[in-house]
Amino acid sequence: MQEKSKALPLKETGPAPSQNAPQTPPLIEVHNLNVWYEDRHALIDVTFDLYHDEVLAFIGPSGCGKTTALKCLNRMLEEVPGTRITGRISMEGMDIFRADLDLPEYRQRFGWVAQGPNPFADTIYENVAYGARIHQIAKDGADMDAHVERCLRRAYLWNEVSAGLHAQQGPDLSGGQQQRLCIARALGTNPAVLLMDEPTGSIDPIAANKVEKLILDLGDTHAIVLVTHSMMEARRVADRVAMFYLGRLVEIGLTDQMFSDPRAAETRSFMRGAIG
Ligand code: ADP
Ligand code: MG
Repeated sequence: MQEKSKALPLKETGPAPSQNAPQTPPLIEVHNLNVWYEDRHALIDVTFDLYHDEVLAFIGPSGCGKTTALKCLNRMLEEVPGTRITGRISMEGMDIFRADLDLPEYRQRFGWVAQGPNPFADTIYENVAYGARIHQIAKDGADMDAHVERCLRRAYLWNEVSAGLHAQQGPDLSGGQQQRLCIARALGTNPAVLLMDEPTGSIDPIAANKVEKLILDLGDTHAIVLVTHSMMEARRVADRVAMFYLGRLVEIGLTDQMFSDPRAAETRSFMRGAIG
């Protein structure tokens, strides 16, 4: 697979933002984010931007806060009892924690893909149509049929499932197909951002390769945050990489730079396999 070399706004960590002024405004800005689970300080002063149409990979040892950071972006974290969040997150310049935010509408702008494929116990069609119906993206009938087809094609799944849309159940597909169905389902609400938490972590390498190609393709039209255990995967699909260590984002930069010239000692150790 080709490595990614899309031109991106040059925005990296560093004390002087003016040296790396982005050419386009970020879609999401995260500033000094702190998260506690009860007494456990899980994210410490995390600051980063997410740009339109980029794939940003989160890497780092497990337990370092990657999933927690992901859940803050779509305000899912507050569903976990005992959590506390401080700091600022804005989307297109608007504070996502403001009191008058329409939370269902906000969350609709995100699609979530989990590590283990978790399709609904329903038909392939319904897996995709369900969210689209709730959010009134498409009306049942020809409109929904076209929407379901579009999402399944976009997830590289249409040709494999089109004959059994209403007959076959999501959970009866192979693991890799189920994961692509979950991506089609995530696309069903027309999200601007895809949050993927180790989406290839529990499928076989061939299926993972398909999902990686899909991520590369979707990254042309969506902002994607991809948590991955695999450095090779980050290298193949990410435009930028952020390294988490013990709750801190220790380094963020363009993928090539992160792999060829990592600046933080933690990143160098992690890449050598010395930590994690
Ligand atoms: P990662 O995704 O990098 O593996 P997480 O974001 O899942 O890390 O976890 C970060 C830290 O927060 C870990 O120490 C983890 O034990 C803790 N944590 C995560 N979820 C919860 C929870 N629901 N309750 C309490 N602690 C949690
Ligand atoms: Mg995690």
